[in-house]
Amino acid sequence: MPAKIIDGTKIARLVRAEIRDRTKALLANHGIKPGLAVIMIGENPASVVYVRNKVRACADVGISSQVFNFSANVSEAEILDCIRQLNEANNVHGILVQLPIPEGISVQHILETISIDKDVDGFHLYNVGGLVAGDAIFPPCTPYGVQKLLEYEGIELEGRNVTVVGASNIVGKPMALMLMRKEATVAICHAKTRDLAQYTIIADILVVAAGKPNLILPQMVRSGAVVIDVGINRLPDGRLVGDVDFEGVRQKAAYITPVPGGVGPMTVTMLLHNTVASAERIAARAGRAPAFDQAASG
Ligand code: NAP
Repeated sequence: MPAKIIDGTKIARLVRAEIRDRTKALLANHGIKPGLAVIMIGENPASVVYVRNKVRACADVGISSQVFNFSANVSEAEILDCIRQLNEANNVHGILVQLPIPEGISVQHILETISIDKDVDGFHLYNVGGLVAGDAIFPPCTPYGVQKLLEYEGIELEGRNVTVVGASNIVGKPMALMLMRKEATVAICHAKTRDLAQYTIIADILVVAAGKPNLILPQMVRSGAVVIDVGINRLPDGRLVGDVDFEGVRQKAAYITPVPGGVGPMTVTMLLHNTVASAERIAARAGRAPAFDQAASG
C-alpha cells in the first residue's frame, strides 16, 4: 500500500490556529501584541520571498512584524547597532537576520549579538548549547517543524532507528540532537559518508536534508519507514522537488512528506510559535502574564 502522505499544510494550519488563540489571549488579558523584527541585508531574490512569507504569516496569527532593509554594502557595525536597539525594544519579542548575508559581515557576530531571549531562529550559541544539554529556549524552526509533524502523526521516536542525511548547523545537526532527546538512536550522514544506503536502509525514520534531488531512491529505504524530506530543489524545468524520489519511495514507505507541502509550511509556523512563546516568557518574567511555554518540549 502506498505511504500515507503527511500533509504539512494542514498540520501547519492546526498549529497556527493554536498560535492565534495564544496571541489573542496575550492581547486580551495583558495588552501585549507579540512582535517579530526581521533584518534583511541586500536583495537576494529567494530571501525577498521568504521575508514576504514571514510577514504575511505573522499577520495571519496576530503577530506584528517590522522589516529592516539594509543595502548589501552596509557596515557590520550598523547591523549590530540595529540588533542592539531591537534587543531593548519592548514591542519586539523575536529578532531574526535573514540568511545568507553578504560577505564582509560576520554571521557569528550577528548571532552573538541577538539577545538569547529574542533568538527565535534558535541559532545563538546559547540555544545551540541548550540543544546539547537538553533545554534550548528556542529550538531551530525547521527541525522543530519536523518534530511537530512526527508528533501530529503520532509517530513514536523512543528506541527507533533514525538516520538524518545532512549535517548542517541549521537543519541536520539540530535535528539529530532533538531526536536524540526523544530517545531515538540516531545516525547522521553527510557528503563524505561512505555508502549512504547502508545507513538509510536501517532507518525506521529517515530525515533527509541534503539539497540533492533524487538522492534517496526506493532501494535505499526500508519497507514501512517514515520518510521526511526537508530538501527544496528547483529543477531546470522549474519544478520544485525534495531530495527523495517521491513517487518511487512512496510505494515502499509507511509515511512520506511531499515537496512542496510537507516540511516547508512548518518552518515558518514554528517561527511564529517561537515568537509567541517569547512574548509569553518575557511577559511572565515581568509578572504580567502567567503563561510560560516550554518550547523545546512542546
Ligand atoms: P547545507 O547547509 O547545504 O547542508 C547540506 C548538508 O547535506 C551538508 O551536511 C552536506 O554534507 C550534506 N550533503 C550534501 N550532499 C550529500 C550527499 N550526496 N550525501 C549525504 N549528505 C550530503 O543545506 P541546509 O541549509 O541544511 O539545507 C538542506 C536542504 O534543505 C536544502 O535543499 C534546503 O533548501 C532545504 N531546507 C528546507 C527548509 C524547509 O523549510 N523545508 C529549511 C531549510 C533548508 P557536508 O556537511 O559534508 O557538506
